[in-house]
Amino acid sequence: MKILKFGGTSVGSAENIKIVHQIAQQYIQDEVHIALVVSAQSGVTNLLELAGKKAAEADESYKADFEQIEQNLFGIMKELIEVNRQSKLFANTKLMLNNLEDVLHGIFLLREFSPRIRDLVLSFGERFSAQIISTFFNQEGLESEMLDTRQIIRTDSDFGAAKVDFPKSNELITDYFAKHSKLQIVTGFVASNNQDQTTTLGRGGSDFTASILGSALDAYEVEIWTDVDGVMTTDPRKVKRAFSLPSITYMEAMEMTHFGAKVIYPPTLQPLVDKRIPLRIRNTFNPSFEGTYVGKKLLGKTQSNQSRKVSGISCVEQVVIINLQGSGIMGVPGVSARLFSALARHKVNVILITQASSEHSICFAVAESDAETAQKAIEEEFLNELETRKLDQVVLERNRSIIAAIGERMREVPGIAAKFFNALAKNGINVTAIAQGSSEWNISVVIDQKDISKALNALHSQFFQTEVRALNLFMVGVGLIGKELLNQIQQQNKFFLNERFLKINLVGLSNSKRMSFNLDGIELENWEKELENSTQEADISEFLQQIRDFNLPNSVFVDNTSSEDIAKRYPEILRMKVSIATPNKKANSSQFSEYQKLQTLALNNNVKYGYETTVGAGLPVIKTLQDIVMSGDRIERIEGVLSGTLSYLFNTYDGTKPFSQLVQEAKAMGFTEPDPRDDLNGMDVARKILILAREAGNEVEMDEISLEKFLPDACFAPETVEGFFEELEKADGEMLKQFNKAKADGKALRYIASWEQNSKTAKVELKSVDSSHPFYALQGGDNIIAFTTARYKTRPMVIKGPGAGAEVTAAGVFADILQISNFLAG
Ligand code: ADP
Ligand code: ASP
Ligand code: MG
Repeated sequence: MKILKFGGTSVGSAENIKIVHQIAQQYIQDEVHIALVVSAQSGVTNLLELAGKKAAEADESYKADFEQIEQNLFGIMKELIEVNRQSKLFANTKLMLNNLEDVLHGIFLLREFSPRIRDLVLSFGERFSAQIISTFFNQEGLESEMLDTRQIIRTDSDFGAAKVDFPKSNELITDYFAKHSKLQIVTGFVASNNQDQTTTLGRGGSDFTASILGSALDAYEVEIWTDVDGVMTTDPRKVKRAFSLPSITYMEAMEMTHFGAKVIYPPTLQPLVDKRIPLRIRNTFNPSFEGTYVGKKLLGKTQSNQSRKVSGISCVEQVVIINLQGSGIMGVPGVSARLFSALARHKVNVILITQASSEHSICFAVAESDAETAQKAIEEEFLNELETRKLDQVVLERNRSIIAAIGERMREVPGIAAKFFNALAKNGINVTAIAQGSSEWNISVVIDQKDISKALNALHSQFFQTEVRALNLFMVGVGLIGKELLNQIQQQNKFFLNERFLKINLVGLSNSKRMSFNLDGIELENWEKELENSTQEADISEFLQQIRDFNLPNSVFVDNTSSEDIAKRYPEILRMKVSIATPNKKANSSQFSEYQKLQTLALNNNVKYGYETTVGAGLPVIKTLQDIVMSGDRIERIEGVLSGTLSYLFNTYDGTKPFSQLVQEAKAMGFTEPDPRDDLNGMDVARKILILAREAGNEVEMDEISLEKFLPDACFAPETVEGFFEELEKADGEMLKQFNKAKADGKALRYIASWEQNSKTAKVELKSVDSSHPFYALQGGDNIIAFTTARYKTRPMVIKGPGAGAEVTAAGVFADILQISNFLAG
């Protein structure tokens, strides 16, 4: 004997019922003895409940709900049943509908929707359903009869979620089946008490009906046919990448369902565990797929089963945390016993008991719907203690969720909890409480409701490693660097996907005019069109709001601009637990306090602030400096040629043509800013040495840097670039003089920034260096940085290479992004 249960969606339309028929037909053909348990059509139980509630509130629109149920039923019946067979089914259904209408009218008159009446109303759904399906099966030549489980499942009178009297029910069930050999189409969910009043087994209870039958009839397997491919790693509606598990143990299934995996109604497992009857979860819409096997042990010894320590991640949403605390009650024996008995008396289900930070409190979670009852129960039980202030007022924390990782093999391996908390921390998810004393098959924590989707996704990618991990980019600025960066990401994306299981998703993009968002990732080949076609005007505040609203795990903000306004938003971004990668120097070279704030914020919010490209573009300058400091070495001097443009000008200038002409040519080749003075004024270099001095651990401000311009002030006065060049020509003579003097001494002119640790001074100046100096032989537009340290004293550590240009800068930002990705992956 095998019990098949079909859920609400599986029987939700005429078309679906035909699939159910085919599945049943196949079993019969294979001579498998089966019985079918069916749910109400999906949505019907909710509608019945709604109609009842409305009627009790004297809201006449309950009639519209009733009519919708009626229409829905007749629609399905007309489509399924041939005209000449319709009359009997239609008449029976109509009779039941009249009966339901009477009951609803009664509720309307009496304004009362008691749990007892509610169960009666809800029972109609399954009864309609079983009747239709049985009639259809008969029409198709599969002889069957409807079985109303009020005849065979006995419960107590706990309406709404009645407890089954197993000895009695088992007897009734076996008797009934002994006398009825036809295929039974059984109503799920409904039962009766010993006064023959209708009861129900709780919402989702049709699964339970199947296992009650399976256990009573010693079935060799129970199959739950639903609308997904079995039990999945997590709720597929919340995590797109959830996948179905080939098998899980009873214990794992219990934990998962207790913590919110709706796919199996939690009490379903108990009758099966006792008799070791396996349960299989299958997909009505993918019948050839084997689904998930649930049994005492895992099915087979497949590699994936063996190695997977965590089987699933579940969540219970919208719970309320209740805190009981007070100086006068803790350590007093019997307090928790009184608390939990009071809750039990009021039928409050405690979802978990948690460990709060202090030992002076008891903290537990209940469903939102139980919160007020729980509060009353406590206030009643501890009236005395509350009045004498031995107990503080009961505090309810709403809008919380519980999230749990479940796996029977977790206890064999250390480090799972660390991974679990790491994944949450890396994504800035705050854990309010940790579950206490639950089995080792489960780690559960309480988090904010708003973080639920992010947490599920983060944990899912943490524990199902072969899963592709998404890195979500929010990028502003698509100038030379931004464009090149997008280009590089596009080229490498396939490699990352295949080799590293990393998918870089460009979720948000903005230039100075427009912005565009796509949760699945803006197509990298098409970003220009996307921006062009977007109707959203660029606005940094809205851009950030969107990041906040998406609340995605593994998010990185990439700033390819040199905008001060955007740099000012970094603290806000880090507080949103979003990492930053940027070549923009503005933030790090503003006030020291701002620089320091960003470092602290990144640390405290467990995110990364990557700015390697602010000095020397893609050259590993900042990382090297950080490593020097971290390894306990001591910086004595930092010296560098830190501007590609100025490096080029002085490396190329040989006195054969005027300096001003060289600048003109450099501008024409795009080696300078549109106004070359932005390079020639040395500000950019000053910002860079400032950043390096700060990275070396010094509290320095911009105005403490001595910046010597190598051009007369007159060059910086004109409004226009043309005006500037006129002035520059006048300075050609002086420049040539300086050059010739240096040359006569065997030296070369270099524009050098330096930091002296002892005197704590920073300088930016034009200097002559002799041939023994590492900067003498500099070529093209290369940057060079020399670190003199306690360990690198006689010969400094030198980093040299192209330190400007879109390609190397973009590559550097890309490297920062990947470092952030590794950091987030733990
Ligand atoms: P039925 O009406 O067939 O009983 P339910 O809606 O009660 O179906 O349960 C199936 C649904 O449970 C799925 O559609 C899915 O959205 C949800 N679900 C939540 N968690 C899980 C999980 N871990 N695995 C599979 N489904 C899950
Ligand atoms: N129809 C009931 C419900 O929606 C029982 C079930 O489908 O399992 O809760
Ligand atoms: Mg269900």
